[in-house]
Amino acid sequence: AAVFDTLSDRLSATFRNLRGKGRLSEADIDATAREIRIALLEADVALPVVRTFIKNVKERCLGAEVSRALNPSQQVIKIVNDELVQILGGETRRLRFAKTPPTVIMLAGLQGAGKTTLAGKLAKWLKDQGHSPLLVACDLQRPNAVNQLGVVAERAGVAVYAPEPGNGVGDPVKVAKDSIDYARTKVHDIVIVDTAGRLGIDQEMMQQAADIRDAVHPDEILFVVDAMIGQDAVNTAEAFRDGVGFDGVVLTKLDGDARGGAALSIRQITGKPIMFASSGEKLDDFDAFHPDRMASRILD
Ligand code: GDP
Repeated sequence: AAVFDTLSDRLSATFRNLRGKGRLSEADIDATAREIRIALLEADVALPVVRTFIKNVKERCLGAEVSRALNPSQQVIKIVNDELVQILGGETRRLRFAKTPPTVIMLAGLQGAGKTTLAGKLAKWLKDQGHSPLLVACDLQRPNAVNQLGVVAERAGVAVYAPEPGNGVGDPVKVAKDSIDYARTKVHDIVIVDTAGRLGIDQEMMQQAADIRDAVHPDEILFVVDAMIGQDAVNTAEAFRDGVGFDGVVLTKLDGDARGGAALSIRQITGKPIMFASSGEKLDDFDAFHPDRMASRILD
């Protein structure tokens, strides 16, 4: 993921300095911890997350596993890897399906986060696994949002449910509710509800998302966030957690060239798992999020 390129480079430089050392002194470990700390802060990782990370890395580096190791630098890399996996969430959190279909997945997030694109990617991903998803257009704020979802659905080769054109502005709560009955009659086993976003956090938007939530009782609420918006991602996540609540996070735009610290902070700050990652404009630039694979990529 491109958002981690700078961090990757910084960490490899740090590890290079350790290479060939037979034994690490406390001063070596301090210096290494300091460099990792700077690398994380420069990547825009939230301060409390950096603190915990460095504390854990240092404790383990000072412990027996490193002092006894034949190749301490390898051991340090392993420790940093383990801690990265931890802050990224540890285990892969898979999508939960409803016992009785349809499984309802609701997407929430700011305008421009990549919700509509993500809706198409997720639908295609599920379709490729043999599901029959229905995309539901509940973003009735932005004039072109319904059309855009239609285009995405067509590209993904999945069905879409939207208010009839010409039926006035439409009530997103009613559209969401009706889409569940529609999914049942058309035998769609998954309903993906795209909701309206605003450019900033806004009470009315939060309330609308909460009303849709209460109308359809989603099995999963996914908070979609642009990994390139830096520290704001954390603030936005907290606002959505308190205003709507969510079960998992989708990181978008991991192909961006900005500092990807938000991606490393969001799990610990919100306590919610990152479930999917989106890394491009193509429908296939998408997959389930695996903390171990992402950590390996960062340390590659
Ligand atoms: P929404 O307002 O949340 O529905 O966001 P959109 O899905 O309309 O996406 C906003 C913009 O970001 C569009 O130009 C998308 O093509 C772009 N976009 C979405 N996901 C990604 C991604 O993973 N990588 C990149 N580079 N662009 C993306």
